[in-house]
Amino acid sequence: MHNIKTNWALIAHGGAKDIAPDEELANREGLMEAIAAGSTLLEKGAHSIDVVEAVVKILEKNPAYNAGLYGSVTNEDGIIEMDASIMDGETLDIGAVAGIQDIEHPIMVARLLLREKAIFLVGDGAAKFAKEKGFSRILNHSPAKHNSPGCDTVGCVARDKYGALAVATSTGGLEGAKAGRVGDVPLPGCGFYADSKRGGVSASGDGESIARIMLASEFLYFVRDMHPDQAVERALTLLEKAPGEAGLIAIAPDGTIGWGHTSPNFAVGVASEGVKPSAYLKKSEEKL
Ligand code: ASP
Repeated sequence: MHNIKTNWALIAHGGAKDIAPDEELANREGLMEAIAAGSTLLEKGAHSIDVVEAVVKILEKNPAYNAGLYGSVTNEDGIIEMDASIMDGETLDIGAVAGIQDIEHPIMVARLLLREKAIFLVGDGAAKFAKEKGFSRILNHSPAKHNSPGCDTVGCVARDKYGALAVATSTGGLEGAKAGRVGDVPLPGCGFYADSKRGGVSASGDGESIARIMLASEFLYFVRDMHPDQAVERALTLLEKAPGEAGLIAIAPDGTIGWGHTSPNFAVGVASEGVKPSAYLKKSEEKL
């Protein structure tokens, strides 16, 4: 852990997708609420690993986003199967779960796996681990209805005052997907990665395309030589090789924030030390 105090930085997303006009406000407000809570924690000196979990928990609870039990979409069998991941950029510890059902906050299960030997549990094994850790299954929930077509996921990258990066990502996957389908969200180097010395990044979009080009890993390669906004842009151009839509949020080791998307919208909230939280529904709004 670094001891020198530096600037904190925070970015979160609510999914790379097309946002229907009647869902714009909920998407914007949800991000503002989550980013404001995360900023308060970072300002008080909280560690980035705790902040990314807290921010994703707030987004999972919000039915506007396709994550957690109240906003997730259903698969071809009408069942909610959720994936989540978290990574500590100081230790490179990872906790990831996939195909988990009936759990309010999959990110909390992923977090409890963070310091275990195993980094990734699926289906029944993930459910068993959650039960052992005291999570109860919530059986009487009904699937959320979204008017916005396309993909969705929530994610957060934070850099704390001590220079440590962390990332957390959570999703209900793609609507009507094959039972047991898992996308990029729990795959390190594809849907997420954090290394305090290299950068932190979380993706959203077409998981199969993101995994084929290892989008998070490509971002880390580009960000060695350029601003994270440009590195995001360069990484996204690789989607030409595996067509699909995606968005990325990222923070460089020095705390510089970057993000971008090829989808029509990308709900994003940003804040950093001395700069108030802002929420955007597409990158072009940032320049207004
Ligand atoms: N990337 C997620 C997945 O493929 C979905 C999304 O981001 O909307 O499961």
